[in-house]
Amino acid sequence: MSSLFPALADGPGDQVALRFGERSLTYGELAAAAGTLAGRLRGARRVAVWATPELETAVAVTGVLLAGAAAVPLNPKSGEKELAHIVSDSAPTLVLTAPGTQLPAGLGDLARLDVDASATGPAAGAAEVPDTDPALIVYTSGTTGPPKGAVLPRRALATTLDALADAWQWTADDVLVHGLPLFHVHGLVLGTLGPLRRGGSVRHLGRFSTEGVARELTRGATMLFGVPTMYHRIAEALPEDPELAAALGRARLLVSGSAALPVHDHERIAAATGRRVIERYGMTETLMNTSVRADGEARPGTVGVPLPGVELRLVEEDGTEIGAYDGESVGEIQVRGANLFTEYLNRPDATAAAHTADGWFRTGDMAVREPDGYVRIVGRKATDLIKSGGYKIGAGEIENALLEHPGVREAAVTGEPDADLGERIVAWVVPADPQSPPTAEELADHVARRLAPHKRPRVVHHLAALPRNDMGKIMKRALVADA
Ligand code: ATP
Ligand code: MG
Repeated sequence: MSSLFPALADGPGDQVALRFGERSLTYGELAAAAGTLAGRLRGARRVAVWATPELETAVAVTGVLLAGAAAVPLNPKSGEKELAHIVSDSAPTLVLTAPGTQLPAGLGDLARLDVDASATGPAAGAAEVPDTDPALIVYTSGTTGPPKGAVLPRRALATTLDALADAWQWTADDVLVHGLPLFHVHGLVLGTLGPLRRGGSVRHLGRFSTEGVARELTRGATMLFGVPTMYHRIAEALPEDPELAAALGRARLLVSGSAALPVHDHERIAAATGRRVIERYGMTETLMNTSVRADGEARPGTVGVPLPGVELRLVEEDGTEIGAYDGESVGEIQVRGANLFTEYLNRPDATAAAHTADGWFRTGDMAVREPDGYVRIVGRKATDLIKSGGYKIGAGEIENALLEHPGVREAAVTGEPDADLGERIVAWVVPADPQSPPTAEELADHVARRLAPHKRPRVVHHLAALPRNDMGKIMKRALVADA
């Protein structure tokens, strides 16, 4: 285990490791609290963690990993049915909670243990377990279907965090501002275990706010990790908030991931702060695959280059690999590397279906590669690739074009069956001013002028808000179902 978090055993014990609101732990205190917990968990195979955005959640996951067991983070906002499914699927020995937590009925009679974040021992030493052993079982976001439990080995965590350290020049001097939930890879692996592996620190906002971001960056934090909805809120706030602009201008690194960052938001933030947000691309199953490097060019709409140790290829529907880096040939991203999961828990069928015969993982994401190797994601194969009039059209570029229209606040694009075209392009738009929404004709012209006539939406629906999940991802299944 010392191999996952060297700073816990040998680091500067008095440096702050974690801060959640007003509460914080130094490395010495975290080693004691997580070590005490690990002593109580010895022999457990899987331990669920009620993953509220609190100090106890970080201590709990660290303790489970020190004990050599696998942590199963639970989303406290999950419905009872989903919780019941995850608990019966992963069969944890018990659930770790912050003292005072009210648990819902979906957990059945699962035993509970409150985490004492100020425990001082006796602390257990780190269990010696193979790096192929499971470290986390993380359920996917459920954007395209029911969540599946991805089994992530210890070596995947170490590999991905070290590759990011290389790409981002991430060191013990970095202080991360974090406002993401702790039950997905982004907030848990990158945002919490990442700083702990580097020996740096994390300041969690509890709940994301642009004020919190400005405050922490002004007080010396160096990095911000966020999802596109957070950067959208930042982009909207910037014109009225010079303090926020100055704070962002001071940051060493602004990183976005979990979904595509709209080009419009990227550009607005760059114009107001002089800083470009860099994008990285990953999945629950693969952890991180690509990123713009800290010293690289943050080109809007791209997710950079494969991280060290990640093999990445684009494959056409008939299985042929696309060799050309021409910025046009669209293929499915397939990846291989030590960053990958081992299986979907209890789903050998889904595990097999997600891999090719020669061992590559099929991400289901479609992309092109630019001449210099940068990956540009076009969208998901299942929901974002529209086959219309003989063309394959990515929803993302149409969404980006719509967002540049002053009358559009949010936009999503889908396809629906059409007798003539095969599929026709449908735009779902949240108008900037609900009293005078842009007309369908106006939006079709706007897209036709910016992109190409065959990319114009044929149908436009106006909505008050887009359906989004906890990570701010647009739930296109729900959009289409509600139509
Ligand atoms: P489910 O697999 O349950 O349908 P999900 O795919 O949304 O849900 P995650 O593993 O959390 O679950 O998300 C991974 C997906 O998020 C990727 O496959 C990709 O589609 C998208 N994604 C992540 N980062 C980026 C990015 N920088 N740009 C575009 N898409 C991204
Ligand atoms: Mg997925």
